[in-house]
Amino acid sequence: MLPKSFEPVYEILEQIEKNGEVAYIVGGAVRNYLLSKSINDIDITTSATPTQIATFFPNVVDIASEHGTVLVIHHKIPYEITTFRGTKNTLEDDLMYRDFTMNAIAMNKNGDIIDVYGGTTHLNEKRIVAVQHATDRIKEDPLRIIRAVRFVSELQFSIDDTLANVMKHEAFRLEQVATERILQEWTKLIKGHSIQLAWKCIEATQIALYLPLFKEKPTLMNELATMTEPFNGLAEFVAYMCIRNDTFDLQQWIKKWKMSNEVKNDANKLLLYYNHYQLHGIDDMLIYDVEEPLITPFIQLLQKVTENLSANMLRQKWMEKRDALPIKSRSTLVVTGHDIMELFPEKRTGKWIGDLLREVEVAVVRGHLPNEKIILKEWIQCHPPVND
Ligand code: ATP
Ligand code: MG
Repeated sequence: MLPKSFEPVYEILEQIEKNGEVAYIVGGAVRNYLLSKSINDIDITTSATPTQIATFFPNVVDIASEHGTVLVIHHKIPYEITTFRGTKNTLEDDLMYRDFTMNAIAMNKNGDIIDVYGGTTHLNEKRIVAVQHATDRIKEDPLRIIRAVRFVSELQFSIDDTLANVMKHEAFRLEQVATERILQEWTKLIKGHSIQLAWKCIEATQIALYLPLFKEKPTLMNELATMTEPFNGLAEFVAYMCIRNDTFDLQQWIKKWKMSNEVKNDANKLLLYYNHYQLHGIDDMLIYDVEEPLITPFIQLLQKVTENLSANMLRQKWMEKRDALPIKSRSTLVVTGHDIMELFPEKRTGKWIGDLLREVEVAVVRGHLPNEKIILKEWIQCHPPVND
């Protein structure tokens, strides 16, 4: 029987097999299931080609069919389906080209485990072991070096000695790996609960010498080496690095690590909040200004930088203070930019409107003015804009 968490996949596997091909669940989903951990995404490996898969299902998206991968949308959930790697078009051959034994365990539609390379034993031993020859696996795709560290961080596993030696010896090959791929693994690595083990592992294998920016200034790793708490995400990571070490600025971090504009904007906001914190501490304006999705990253950042605050305590106090604020956001302020324009019909629109609105907003947040339309309008009329 397929475990409950995989039930929706049964129909997919069966549909492929009805057409004379074979298909298995593989990778992180099987690994996490065996570890009783939550499952992120379900990957399927099959003897069928992407073209065949496209004829088996009504809703197929081509994401990388040249690499054998298509996305099947089943009951609104996407599943990555990849044709067996290797030359033999067999499961065993496919599993050989996976990175670690714990990721090379397959499950068929009846829930039977197919474990050719000892993955379940290594899972029980909490060991990350390369499939067959570590050197071959790492040379084939040096990204696996970072993936190994990512799993140390996420799973609190140790790296098999042979693999660790190869990682150190072949770390220079990371320079050939696309930064986007490294970033994808790094994003998961910094969120892992065993991040301290991951730093130790990076130190021992000297991987940092081949990572963007760290390779230009290897002592940057010292800023991370003592850190015990995971990051909330990339924005917090970048903001932390900028605060702790001014060798590189935000722009350089974003550019060299090929991070998105979204990360850049969030990191920039975190740094602005931090500047405010340095000048004024945690005052009402800071609590008001920190946007809701950034509350947790900002609190975690403060906790890391100041070291003497408990993130949980801080979060609780933060939320209490936030609840007590007269307004939570500009949308709950009873006057708008439009109201202000109406009060000064002779004036042309411009930056003054936003400035005046901010003044009113600050006065309301600080409790100097009530959030009442008549009073705020009166106040605005008594404080006309000085110049255009
Ligand atoms: P997660 O739970 O975070 O999704 P995962 O192990 O499923 O972890 P994915 O990146 O989703 O990681 O990859 C799915 C599977 O594909 C892996 O378990 C592994 O078998 C294989 N795989 C992924 N990347 C590589 C790689 N660089 N080299 C070899 N095999 C890989
Ligand atoms: Mg996965």
